[in-house]
This record gives sequence, C-alpha cells and structure tokens, in this order.
Amino acid sequence: MSAKIIDGKKVAKLTREEVRQDVEDWVKDGNRAPFLQVVLVGTNPASDVYVGAKTRACKEVGIQTDTKRLPDTISAKELKSTIHKLNNDDSVDGILVQLPLPNHLSAHDVIEAIDYRKDVDGFHPMNVGRLTVGEPSFRSCTPAGIMELFKHYSIPSKSKHAVIVGASNIVGRPISILLNKEEGEGKATTTVCHKYTKDLTRHTISADILVVAAGQPNLIKGEMVKEGCVVVDVGINRVADETKEKGYTLVGDCHFESVKEKASWITPVPGGVGPMTVAMLMKNTLLAAKKSIYPE
Ligand code: NDP
Repeated sequence: MSAKIIDGKKVAKLTREEVRQDVEDWVKDGNRAPFLQVVLVGTNPASDVYVGAKTRACKEVGIQTDTKRLPDTISAKELKSTIHKLNNDDSVDGILVQLPLPNHLSAHDVIEAIDYRKDVDGFHPMNVGRLTVGEPSFRSCTPAGIMELFKHYSIPSKSKHAVIVGASNIVGRPISILLNKEEGEGKATTTVCHKYTKDLTRHTISADILVVAAGQPNLIKGEMVKEGCVVVDVGINRVADETKEKGYTLVGDCHFESVKEKASWITPVPGGVGPMTVAMLMKNTLLAAKKSIYPE
C-alpha cells in the first residue's frame, strides 16, 4: 500500500479563503478589521520563519497585524508589562507570543500573563482547561488544524485507537483531548506516549491513527506502523544538508518513505500540518475579534 497524501497546503488555502470571506463580511458590517499583535523575543531563525508565515497569512485574509520585536535581554517583568498593556488595548484582538522564549523567561508565566480572551494560540490554562471540560475555548492551533484535516478528508476517529507520540502542552496533550472527546468529533480511545514510554513500537503498532509530535527526526519508521494506519506527522526538524542552499532540509518525525508504504493516509513535511496551524490562527483571531468564544 502507498498512502494517500493529506494535503495540508490545499486545505489551509481553503480555510484561509473562508476566513478572508468572513473578515470581509465582518468589515462590511461596519466593524474594524481584526488585529493580531505578535510578540517576538530575541533572534531565533526558525521563529522568524514562523512569524513571517503568520504575517503573510494575516495580509492574505485581511487581518491587521504588527510584530513587536523585543531584545533577548528583556526581563520577565518588562515582558509581562508589555503584555498587560496589550491586554488593556481595545484595538488588539489577539496576542501571540512566539515560542520558544530565551531560557531566562518562563513560557508558562508569560502565557498566563496574556488575557485568555486574547489568547489566540489557545495555550492559556483557562483555554486548555475549558477545552478539557468541553466548554468553548480557543483551541491550540496545531491540534485544531489536525481535526480540520480529518474533517476535510472524512477520516473517522470514532472508536479508533489513536496513539499520540509526544505530550507537550501545545500539541500532544491537546490533540489527545480533542481525539478523545465524547461529544462532536473525536470519540477515539487515546494513548499518549512520551520520553519515558517503554517499547514505543508496542504502542505505535496498535494505532489506527498515529499523531507524532516529538521533535525527533525519523523517530517513527515503517516497521513501527500498522498497515492502513492514518499518520499525522507534526514534527518540523532542520537536518543539516549541504546540497541545499540554506544548509538544511526540513524533515518530520516520521521516516516518510517507509511509513507511507504502510499508512493509508499521511501528512507530508513540509506541506502537511504546518500550513493548517497558521490557518487556524487566522480563524482564532477572527473569533477573538468577534468575541465569539467569550462574549462581553
Ligand atoms: P516539545 O519538545 O515541547 O514536546 C515533545 C514531546 O515529545 C515531549 O512530550 C517529549 O517527551 C516527547 N518525546 C521526545 N522524544 C521522544 C521519544 N523518543 N519518544 C517518545 N516521546 C518523545 O515539542 P512540541 O510539541 O512543541 O513540538 C513537537 C514537534 O512538532 C517539533 O518538531 C516542532 O517543531 C513541531 N511543531 C510543528 C508544528 C506545526 O505546525 N507543524 C507546531 C508545533 C510544533 P517528554 O514530555 O517526556 O519530554
């Protein structure tokens, strides 16, 4: 078997077009355009690439955006004070602090400083908590994007065994909650693996749906995957490659060539989950502007 490709680039384009139309209607109704404030601390080349992609998407869909660039020497107090100002600024609908932060800053503290009603990344404990108990919330963009891909391709999760490799607060844990939900989408039985999981293959081989978000290039190989499994590769890893102008190539957490021979569906890297993450951020920013999740 050779897997069918889950084309995140295509679905993201459709999603952005939907958002663009909604933004246009929102503005036609006499509202100001949604505004996303990005906060970028320090100089991380990968963060620059991600912020660039988010800025381009905003322009495409008609969302106003600005990037506040702050030095990597900024103190936690100064950064939180910047965030508090943005929280109190009525012209700002969404606030996104690009991660990772320099080591002296705690991402948890900084995320908690964001007003949860402007937390379009869906990382604030209020949003994560509400997601867990099934209340309306900003959903973390990557997991929300994965659910959108399943919906677009009519890939069912009900009663399936979904195995998630990676237990981060921004990908692994929230996707396990969405896939496990008993209402609406989800309804899968979930297993979450992490660094301390013994015999990873014992778990991955039993997966009907395998979501891999470990940040480990080629961690999952064909022999670790059941025939017909749906594989979502979230990983984005830069691997040195002298044949490339940039000096690196992007690979996922799965060994694509061998895994695609076993899977029924697979997301490529790049062009799979990444573009969906950005598209869902656009959706969340519009929801924030409309105050759809947290009405006043
Ligand atoms: P984190 O480093 O925060 O989390 C990685 C998780 O994987 C941790 O739970 C870690 O375990 C677990 N892990 C690490 N090694 C192994 C292993 N050998 N076996 C099993 N579990 C393991 O990363 P993120 O969740 O932020 O990101 C994961 C990957 O996804 C990265 O490559 C990142 O670049 C990419 N990413 C892609 C996005 C996209 O839009 N496509 C968006 C966000 C991230 P433990 O908890 O025990 O340390």
